[in-house]
Amino acid sequence: MKKILEPAREIDVIHETDVLVVGSGPGGLSAALGAARTGVEVTLVERFGCFGGNITAVGVEGFAWYRHEKTIDTEGVGREFEARARDAGATTPEPQSDSDAIDAEGFKLVADTLVEEAGIHPMLHRAFAAPIMEGDEIRGIITESKAGREAILAKKVIDATGDADVAHRAGAATKKTPVEEMQAASVMFSMNGVDKSKFIEAVKADPQTYKDWESGEWSVETTGKEDQMFSPFLRKPFEKAMEAGIIPRALSTISGTWGAVYDSGDLTYLNLVHLPECDGTDPASMTKNEIEGRRQAMMAVEALKRFHPGCGGAKLRNFGMTIGIRDTRKILSAYDMTELDVREEGRFEDSVGIFPEFIDGYGILILPTTGRYFQLPYRTMLPRSVRNLLVAGRATGGDKVSHAATRNMMCCTVTGQGAGVAAALAVKHGLELEQMDVQRLQQELKRQGVRLH
Ligand SMILES: Cc1cc2nc3c(=O)[nH]c(=O)nc-3n(C[C@H](O)[C@H](O)[C@H](O)COP(=O)(O)OP(=O)(O)OC[C@H]3O[C@@H](n4cnc5c(N)ncnc54)[C@H](O)[C@@H]3O)c2cc1C
Repeated sequence: MKKILEPAREIDVIHETDVLVVGSGPGGLSAALGAARTGVEVTLVERFGCFGGNITAVGVEGFAWYRHEKTIDTEGVGREFEARARDAGATTPEPQSDSDAIDAEGFKLVADTLVEEAGIHPMLHRAFAAPIMEGDEIRGIITESKAGREAILAKKVIDATGDADVAHRAGAATKKTPVEEMQAASVMFSMNGVDKSKFIEAVKADPQTYKDWESGEWSVETTGKEDQMFSPFLRKPFEKAMEAGIIPRALSTISGTWGAVYDSGDLTYLNLVHLPECDGTDPASMTKNEIEGRRQAMMAVEALKRFHPGCGGAKLRNFGMTIGIRDTRKILSAYDMTELDVREEGRFEDSVGIFPEFIDGYGILILPTTGRYFQLPYRTMLPRSVRNLLVAGRATGGDKVSHAATRNMMCCTVTGQGAGVAAALAVKHGLELEQMDVQRLQQELKRQGVRLH
């Protein structure tokens, strides 16, 4: 490959802060709130024009679709997201669980309010470009934006980019699932003009279950108790569309779940297009799949119009702002979580919170219908080889099956709030992140309403 030399240049330091959070999804937003509520200066950098990550940028609205009567759930800032969204009128009942779906658009405003109330310094429209390093310590970041390259200095940095962008560029060891085994990417979309009562009537007349997720392409491991439970699953309209020649037979992967249907006729969080072998750290792969995903989504719209009652007069309302990526880099951490931890109720001395036994990914679906749950250790956020840095959200350390649990948004809020509080305490008390005072960390998390055990 041809190479050029990028000349060195002087860059303005436009901002200095105690704790810098990069990325504002469930992990980053929680980290920023946790840190600010611990009493330090916090800055939240985000490449897009809204906070919320996959919730707002992709349209992932099923925040707690796993929750059932006996579920022992996370308590902490994630529950506050749901409550604040509900208070703002930005939720609607989620069809398969004891939870509400969060309206992706409404949550943009909820997140703005939370950031403002906590006194967090907001920096939208700036993408992380490079770390500022002194040896193995990160001291801040360089951002790229319409204003060019700018520097932000920080006492502690939290990488909540979902892709471990900061950790990776800072030289921390990371790993990626081989592309052929990665969880598929999805172009999410919503429709409007749906006749809700006809739609729901048809769903009730032919209720689908989690067992129905299985087909030639997909096998799903459950514990058995999930098999007969209702799932808002759609495949039959697409099979009919194949017979009618609207969808090519090769695209038998067009199927999946609908998220919420409103009296207004909106049918949202349509998770129907699955794009295998999309590497979310490779812009060429994302370009190809973003375009292919939109093409497939339009076939799905046409199929629903023709073959699902209530959708005849409907149309595409919107695509997510960006393709939804499930699976990229994870750090190698001081403690990499294991399949056993999430399947067998892992317990840790340095717990920063709990998450129910909900495993969804890599062909496994286990729902937390029994009250079983696991704890998240502080060390899963601590990269092995870079100092001053914590990683929150879906890029924390762990094996494939543990990620099928920890990637879920509510779980990302647990590592987010844990990382935020830890970074803030480290600043306040002059601690190294490697020598965290776990008792103090847990005390502050408890004060903030987190359930640790
Ligand atoms: C299609 C789809 C459906 C899903 N369905 C569900 C579901 O129903 N329930 C569930 O719990 N989970 C679901 N997930 C998983 C879940 O959405 C993610 O795992 C979760 O959002 C990860 O949270 P995060 O905070 O780590 O990262 P993200 O939500 O990805 O947020 C990362 C943020 O960092 C920003 N960012 C990234 N790189 C940079 C950079 N270089 N500079 C500045 N900012 C940057 C991004 O713009 C984004 O705002 C789904 C995922 C997908 C893709």
